[in-house]
Amino acid sequence: MTDTTFGRYGGQYVPETLMGALGDLDEAYRRIRRDPAFEKRLSFLLHEYAGRETPLTYCANLSRDLSCRVYLKREDLLHGGAHKLNNTLGQGLLAQFMGKKRLIAETGAGQHGVATAIAGAVLNLPVEVYMGETDTRRQQLNVFRMQLMGARVVTVRQGTRTLKDAVNEAMRDWVANVRETHYLLGSCVGPYPFPGIVRDFQAVIGEETKRQIVQREGSLPAAVVACVGGGSNAIGMFSAFTGDPGVALVGAEAGGAGLATGQHGASLCAGSPGVFQGALSYLLQDGDGQVCETHSVAAGLDYPSVGPEHAMLRDAGRVRYEAVTDREALDAFRYLSRMEGIIPALESAHAVACARREAEKLDAGDILVINLSGRGDKDVADVAAMQGGLG
Ligand SMILES: *Cc1c(COP(=O)(O)O)cnc(C)c1O
Repeated sequence: MTDTTFGRYGGQYVPETLMGALGDLDEAYRRIRRDPAFEKRLSFLLHEYAGRETPLTYCANLSRDLSCRVYLKREDLLHGGAHKLNNTLGQGLLAQFMGKKRLIAETGAGQHGVATAIAGAVLNLPVEVYMGETDTRRQQLNVFRMQLMGARVVTVRQGTRTLKDAVNEAMRDWVANVRETHYLLGSCVGPYPFPGIVRDFQAVIGEETKRQIVQREGSLPAAVVACVGGGSNAIGMFSAFTGDPGVALVGAEAGGAGLATGQHGASLCAGSPGVFQGALSYLLQDGDGQVCETHSVAAGLDYPSVGPEHAMLRDAGRVRYEAVTDREALDAFRYLSRMEGIIPALESAHAVACARREAEKLDAGDILVINLSGRGDKDVADVAAMQGGLG
């Protein structure tokens, strides 16, 4: 029987009606990822369309300030402005090779919906994106972006009208239309086989980084830092290094207003094992097992659980997870902008903040790699508003 877990985590906590679809996806993925035609088409898309490989940038100013050798992996320069396209192009193409005629997705802040709309447009597959009504109002620009690229945004008016409800509606659609539809998950979460598929499509980040740093420095980094929402940019970076015990791996979670306040998104730092979106992993839940409201200044980190592979890596002690508060992330947002002329996504600013702490443990010759998961243009207006206007 197929192992559907990462240690005790993961699995397939879904209605019986979806088991067939997950089995088909597993079988198709194993076959198609070895198909040279798939490999060729995906590498064309990643290279000529999305702009891979992305640079690994040596940052002289950060290095001087942090007293070690600091590099940024520039996923902010990928088409769409973040790492998300590695996954949506990969899964979109997989769906096409499976003969699927339609992509569906759910989105909270809209970033994954936009990345799915991009993939659907270039692959010529119709896209429908489920989004809670509350989120469609908060994220009107992303709704418009999706529509510009030909996606249909389905407004969800059930429940709290946010991500949880959008997930339920997308699941319902998938059950009803599974023959022609692929459900394109946005992070290394959900039931088996999604977490492994998403990791594999994001693993290009770590593979490139390892090759680039060895070429440039002739040695591996002392530490690698990435932010963790669902965990896809982090697992994509970490997976190349988990077998190298000398490389410290650090995941930065959304500490929100502070762990003590309960207003955060740090499921690995402060959660406990529970089932969410079809998998067992660390989960922010109350004493009755109800999923908590999460909060982060970074919309992409505002997720109450985390991919099951991270849960396993946490328990094994291979990756250390730390909470970064909104305030620290906002500081780091300004810091990187001023120091290097690179405005990071607020999500990625969590990794920068965490790296500033990590640098204190390193020697001058040590290499520190930060995964810059996305660019900050999307966050500039919000940050300006938080500091009291554009003045
Ligand atoms: C969506 C997003 C994240 C969080 O998602 P992961 O699956 O944890 O990578 C982080 N950074 C950026 C820029 C994002 O858009």
